Amino acid sequence: MSTPRILIVGGGYVGLYTAHRLQKLARRGKVSITVIDPHARMTYQPFLPEAAAGSIEPRHVVVALHKVLHRCEILTGCVTHIDHASRQVTLRPTSGPARKVGYDVLVVAAGSIVRTLPVPGLADHAIGLKSLPEAIYLRDHVLSQLDVASTTEDEHVRRKALTFAFVGGGYAGVETIAELEDMARYALRYYPRLKPELMRWVLVEANDHILPEIGPEMGEYTRKQLERRGFDLRLGRRVVSIAKGLVQLDDGDAFEAGTIVWTAGVRPNPVVERSDLPLDERKRVMCDEMMRVKDLPGVWAAGDIANVPDLSTPGASCSPSAQHAVRQSARLAKNIAAVQRGKEPKAYKHSYAGSVASLGLHKGAAKVYGVKLKGMPAWLMHRLYHVSRMPTTARKLQVVIDWSVALLFRREVVSLGDMENPRKQFREAAREELPHPTIDVTEAPPTRKRAPAKKVTVGKKAPAKKVTARR
Ligand SMILES: Cc1cc2nc3c(=O)[nH]c(=O)nc-3n(C[C@H](O)[C@H](O)[C@H](O)COP(=O)(O)OP(=O)(O)OC[C@H]3O[C@@H](n4cnc5c(N)ncnc54)[C@H](O)[C@@H]3O)c2cc1C
Repeated sequence: MSTPRILIVGGGYVGLYTAHRLQKLARRGKVSITVIDPHARMTYQPFLPEAAAGSIEPRHVVVALHKVLHRCEILTGCVTHIDHASRQVTLRPTSGPARKVGYDVLVVAAGSIVRTLPVPGLADHAIGLKSLPEAIYLRDHVLSQLDVASTTEDEHVRRKALTFAFVGGGYAGVETIAELEDMARYALRYYPRLKPELMRWVLVEANDHILPEIGPEMGEYTRKQLERRGFDLRLGRRVVSIAKGLVQLDDGDAFEAGTIVWTAGVRPNPVVERSDLPLDERKRVMCDEMMRVKDLPGVWAAGDIANVPDLSTPGASCSPSAQHAVRQSARLAKNIAAVQRGKEPKAYKHSYAGSVASLGLHKGAAKVYGVKLKGMPAWLMHRLYHVSRMPTTARKLQVVIDWSVALLFRREVVSLGDMENPRKQFREAAREELPHPTIDVTEAPPTRKRAPAKKVTVGKKAPAKKVTARR
């Protein structure tokens, strides 16, 4: 009989931790494990705001799956379809044709994506914060806005460059706006023409409170802290348009912003909508308390993509959080191993331990086992908690070293320039050398409709003297 294959879709919190724990089974030759992820790395998302603010070296908030999952097969690509009837998924690799990958046991751990709304201009003018490239881009972009503001003589351009708008007042939005403001305020010491009062940091939230994750009292404390620091909080307000970079609110107010960050929640990864798995009304995979997908033996799901009953709150399901994802994966690995040995799986039960939020250097808010912490103690608790959850000892040490170095030396405030288009300069230089400069239609800007892959020489049909144009 061949070794059963456990296929894990997604190498984030749930995927990495589950595979890591199941490696013991693989070592004994009981199973083979395959993990599919588009980037072959796990991103420790709670550190993204600090990576964006430069307190942690960006590479230290990710863990390469190949490095940690020695006994697993890692496939780099996207699962585009799950067909449980035939026990196969469709894998679209980074390059090359799509292929089918079969399994005996399936773990669905593809997490969530940013929840967007049909707001005009959103796709063209906003950025999310769910991935490392977004964090790197955001840091660079905020610093480059300071360069713009300090160089221009145009008051309108300056005002726009110094206006930073964030939409969504959960973890991601509040921590990121607080961290980036802290970084920008520090950076201003190197811009004698700019004063902190010129900056405008606006947070728009549809609810009348922020940070629901840490409870109403600490959310209110955070609101007061942010307002004291000069943040412009628009609670109970919705963004109705950001066309042309003009942020329009539902109360009629409007302002231009050079930076618009969309952190208005997440929704389950839509890959499960292209599957025969049972979904709830929010399109999460329906699971029982053991994390078995309902009525489908051999299929499991956990984390942001799953509807797992929260046994500590009758009738509720587990919220999409790192806290649940990490703990669920520990139970999930044990359950899968138990079933492989012919034993019964156990229910996932976890009582809420509390939440921590960082609000910039030495600032924070936390509620842990009912104890409320503010300022420096909360900030330290945030760091302690998250570094303890970070996978691998090496990464824990690297993050602690980053923090220690940041205490000893001044913050790095260099903007690396055009991060969006790193090949631009090289491409232009290379084109200069061509006798008849060409435009590669495959490299058209992403907003434009993609043209078929072909090269077009731009120029008038003039046999005697060619007139050419360059992009
Ligand atoms: C900025 C930010 C800050 C946060 N802060 C906190 C915090 O302080 N505390 C807290 O508890 N939670 C926090 N969270 C939430 C927490 O990070 C998530 O709840 C957690 O990551 C969920 O784990 P997961 O394994 O379900 O998904 P993820 O960790 O997102 O992993 C999903 C994986 O699936 C992969 N994938 C996606 N699509 C496919 C596909 N089609 N095929 C194959 N693989 C795919 C992705 O590449 C990814 O690696 C934060 C989130 C963000 C974005």
